[in-house]
Amino acid sequence: MGRNLSGLLKGSLAGPRLELLHLLAYQASMLRMPLFLVGGVVRDILLGRRVNDFDLVLEGNSAQFAEYIVRKFGGKIHIHSKFGTATWIPNESTIKRLNVPAFQDSTSVLSFDLISSRSETYEHPGALPTVTRSHIEDDLRRRDFTINAIAIRLDGDPFGELFDPMNGEVDLVAGVIRVLHDLSFIDDPTRMFRAVRYAGRYGFEIAPETSRLMNDEAHNILSQLSGERVRHEFDLIFEEDLPVDMLDRLKSLGLLKWVHPALQAADGNRLTVSMNKPGEEFGEFTFPDLLSFRQTLGWVLYLLNLNGSDIEAVGRRLAFPALLIKTAREASILKQELPAFRGWKPSQWTFRLDETPPLAVYAVWLVTSQPSLKEYLTTWRQIRPYTSGYTLQQRGLVPSPQFREILTRLRAAWLDGEVSTQAEEEMMLKGLIAQN
Ligand code: ATP
Ligand code: MG
Repeated sequence: MGRNLSGLLKGSLAGPRLELLHLLAYQASMLRMPLFLVGGVVRDILLGRRVNDFDLVLEGNSAQFAEYIVRKFGGKIHIHSKFGTATWIPNESTIKRLNVPAFQDSTSVLSFDLISSRSETYEHPGALPTVTRSHIEDDLRRRDFTINAIAIRLDGDPFGELFDPMNGEVDLVAGVIRVLHDLSFIDDPTRMFRAVRYAGRYGFEIAPETSRLMNDEAHNILSQLSGERVRHEFDLIFEEDLPVDMLDRLKSLGLLKWVHPALQAADGNRLTVSMNKPGEEFGEFTFPDLLSFRQTLGWVLYLLNLNGSDIEAVGRRLAFPALLIKTAREASILKQELPAFRGWKPSQWTFRLDETPPLAVYAVWLVTSQPSLKEYLTTWRQIRPYTSGYTLQQRGLVPSPQFREILTRLRAAWLDGEVSTQAEEEMMLKGLIAQN
């Protein structure tokens, strides 16, 4: 029998979390389906970290189980039939039935991911796995590292026994990232990135035997892996609190050149700036739907030292959305050209920067603190004259390329302080019309 963790669970799961686990456990035991808490959530509970997403493994049909739970206790359910998984998100009425205080902060959303226990085989190295139903132990064996292969049994009597056949807790206490078998990185080279991410996040070491498995064969499979899968690993690193160390570690482990040789010149230290979205005064930023603000900014900063053609090459390798390639490339070009803009008037800055995605301007401002870049984002880019193409037509002018010239001239006058009232603009406009 494994060590009982119900005391630890009680201590670390605040609010209705524990009661919801008890509820699921009771239902599973009635149905005689073994139910386990697994993976990152167990690791984080043992480390005393806060958790909101619960990964559960059921020895049984998880979609049917989730449907049964939502019928009985309400909430929302998402079934991902492709992966044989289901997510249950309890709602307020579910939580009200529990007789425990709800969350203090209304922002907490709990979700329970339920999967049927399964084992995985790889048809060829780096392929997506072929999945078959099986027992919890096989399910743990398909996982990445010992610290992520620990389970807590919920349906048993007593509730909350540790099930740790891979001795993950020993590594967790020692702070060691260790794969479960020698072919792990060959089955799935993204695990090399995951190792670096966990090592950085928790301040752990990668076991020397595990580092040695990042060998030529693993590198070779990494170099053939799809762009989306590799990019996603960097995206996850950019979401972390301390991406800089992780990016350094990727470099010192020699992994980058196998993704793309040009990445070796990328500079993780650029990400020491604040990665959060800035205040509203900075205006709107557009970025690809596929990525978050932080991920987009992460990429732009990381690639800032590369030249335009290397950025395009990396972007093609990693299946960047077109807007990400453009933003990263324009940021690098802007940063290079910046010294030549010294002494420029606001209108010159503005007309140059209007060609550049605002997120690129923002990234270059973060690393250079050039005040005109901030002025552009917060003020200049909004400034327009009162006159528009429409008002010119009303005055009897025939639309022509000169419209644009007149409007540009008026905008420049506002930006450079040559006019500062509507009446002054009107005077200037009259002069311009007379000249034309
Ligand atoms: P995080 O805190 O970053 O979410 P996590 O451990 O919860 O960490 P997830 O990516 O959410 O990581 O995956 C959940 C679990 O699934 C992991 O703990 C691990 O057991 C398993 N897992 C995820 N990705 C892999 C992989 N590439 N190979 C093997 N097992 C994996
Ligand atoms: Mg997770």
